[in-house]
Amino acid sequence: MIRSTVARVDLAALQSNFRAIRAFVAEPTSSPRDVGRVPAPTHAASPPAHATAQPAVIAVVKANAYGHGDGRVAVALEQAGATMLACADIEEGIVLRRAGVTVPILVFGALSVSDLDGLFEFALTPTISTPSAARAVQAAAAARKTSVGYHLKVDTGMNRLGFRHDNLRWMLPDVLSSPNLRLDAIYTHFATADDPEHALFGEQRVRFEEAVRTVQALGIPKTLLRHTANSAALLRDSRVWYDFVRPGLLLFGIVPPPLASTLDLQPVMSLTSRVVAVKGLRPGESVGYGGRFRADAP
Ligand SMILES: *Cc1c(COP(=O)(O)O)cnc(C)c1O
Repeated sequence: MIRSTVARVDLAALQSNFRAIRAFVAEPTSSPRDVGRVPAPTHAASPPAHATAQPAVIAVVKANAYGHGDGRVAVALEQAGATMLACADIEEGIVLRRAGVTVPILVFGALSVSDLDGLFEFALTPTISTPSAARAVQAAAAARKTSVGYHLKVDTGMNRLGFRHDNLRWMLPDVLSSPNLRLDAIYTHFATADDPEHALFGEQRVRFEEAVRTVQALGIPKTLLRHTANSAALLRDSRVWYDFVRPGLLLFGIVPPPLASTLDLQPVMSLTSRVVAVKGLRPGESVGYGGRFRADAP
C-alpha cells in the first residue's frame, strides 16, 4: 500500500542554508545586526585578535543528520563546499565514508563506546577528551605504525565531555607528548548559547581563551585551530567564531528558539499528507480524545 504521508528532504535547500551560513560568518559585522530578539551584545563585533580571515564551517550531521538521512545529506554538503563534517561516533563516521564523503570527518563523542579500528580504516578524526582515550588512540596508532591528528575537547562549564579547563596544566603534558598523536585543533561546547540571559556563555568563552593560552604555553609549535560555536553561539556572538563554526540546526533551516535571525534559511524537511475526512461542527462541539479542540464557530 502506498501511504500518502511523505517526508521530503530538499537537498537544494540544505545546500543553500550551508552557503548562507558560510556567507554570514565571512562578514565580521553580521552578528549584532542579526541577533533579532536577543538584547544587543555589548561587545564591538570585531573578530578576535588572532582570528583567521574567515571561519570555515564544520557541518554537523550527527544522529542521521538530525533525522534527514546521513549519507545523502553529507554528500550534498560536501558538494556545496563543506570542508569538514562532524558526527557523534565512529560508527556514524563509517556510514558517512561509505556514502562517499572524502573531506575530514570529526568524531565528537567518547571513543570508549566505539571500535577504534574504524578511525584508521576510514580516516576519521577523533576527539580526545580524556587521558585514557589519548592512551588508547596512541597505542592503536603505534600498533599500526601510523600517526593520527586529533581535536582536543576542553570542558569549560558544560560538565560533560572534555578535559576540565582548570586542570589542563597537569593533564595535558602526557597527552601532548604522545608520539603518534598530532594536535590539530582545540574546542569546547557551550551549555547555554541559546539563553541570552545566562552568564555561563561568557564565562565559557573566557575559560576557553585561557585554555588556548595554556595549551600554547605547553609548547604547541604550530598554529592551533579553535572552534566553539554551535548554531546558537554562531548567531549571537562573532567573538566565538574562531577558525571554524559548528552549526547543525541552522543547516536544516532551524533557528534555535528564542533566537531570531535574518539569515536566509529554508526548511529542509517537509511533511505532507492527504486530508482523509472533513466534518461540519456546531459551535461548542469538540473533536477527538479528550475533546481538546473546541469549535467556537460553525
Ligand atoms: C550537536 C553539536 C553541535 C551543533 O549544535 P546545533 O545546536 O545543532 O547547531 C556543535 N557541536 C557539538 C559538539 C555538538 O554536539
